Order: sequence, then structure tokens, then C-alpha cells
Amino acid sequence: MTSQTPGDCLFCKIAAGDIPSDRVAESERSIAFRDIRPAAPVHVLVVPRRHEPTVGALATASDEDLADVFRLAAQVADQEGVADAYRMVVNTGSEAGQTIFHAHVHVLAGTAFTERKMV
Ligand code: 5GP
Ligand code: ZN
Repeated sequence: MTSQTPGDCLFCKIAAGDIPSDRVAESERSIAFRDIRPAAPVHVLVVPRRHEPTVGALATASDEDLADVFRLAAQVADQEGVADAYRMVVNTGSEAGQTIFHAHVHVLAGTAFTERKMV
């Protein structure tokens, strides 16, 4: 699977503050910022500060970081006023739509969830 080193990783640079982002929340282990190309009225990316290429790799590397990403994602949904109806989406692998190989969870809401429902 494609991997990037933290030195050339976009989300590492955003986490470090070297590249600007519209940050909506953060914790000691994770940050949350608005997606630059929103696919829904609420579209926030929740990203561990630790560089791991996928959420699966993050789960293997650190229970704490994995839990924190999902905890912050739920907090973001609450904060955005969509706690009653939102999706968390994790793309893994380029064939599944992953374009940034630093683990992240999409928080999507504010739209009718009728299109392309897979499960
Ligand atoms: P993926 O396709 O890997 O699941 O999700 C990567 C997401 O990162 C995409 O939805 C894309 O719009 C978003 N993205 C790419 N570059 C930037 C950027 O520079 N800033 C922000 N805020 N989002 C980005
Ligand atoms: Zn990274």
C-alpha cells in the first residue's frame, strides 16, 4: 500500500500547522478540520497527529490514537449539531477512494443519505 513519510505528508503538515486548515476541534492526539472539497454541508476530516497510512495501521499501532480519532469525530458531530444523523467514512486503498495516505475519518452530515448507500 502506498505510504508517505511524515516529512512529505499533507496531513502531517496540516497537523503541525505548516499548512493552513479550517480547524474545528482538536485533542492531544488528533485534529479535526473542514475538507477543502466538501461532499456534504458538514464535511470534517478527523486525523490522528501520529502518521500511520491507514486506520487499520493506526489500530495496530495505538489503541489510544484509534479511540481518540473516533471520540473526536463524535465530538465534532455534536459540535456541528448533527449528532442525530451523520456518517463516519474511512476509505482504505486507492481503489476504495483513499487519496491521502495518513489515516483519517470523514464526518459527513447535513444531506439526505439516500445516494450510494452500501450497507
Ligand atoms: P480520502 O480521499 O483520502 O479518503 O480523503 C482525503 C480528503 O482530503 C479529500 O476529501 C480531499 O478533499 C481532502 N483534502 C485534500 N487536500 C486537502 C487540503 O489541502 N486541505 C483540506 N482541508 N482537505 C484536503
Ligand atoms: Zn502524515
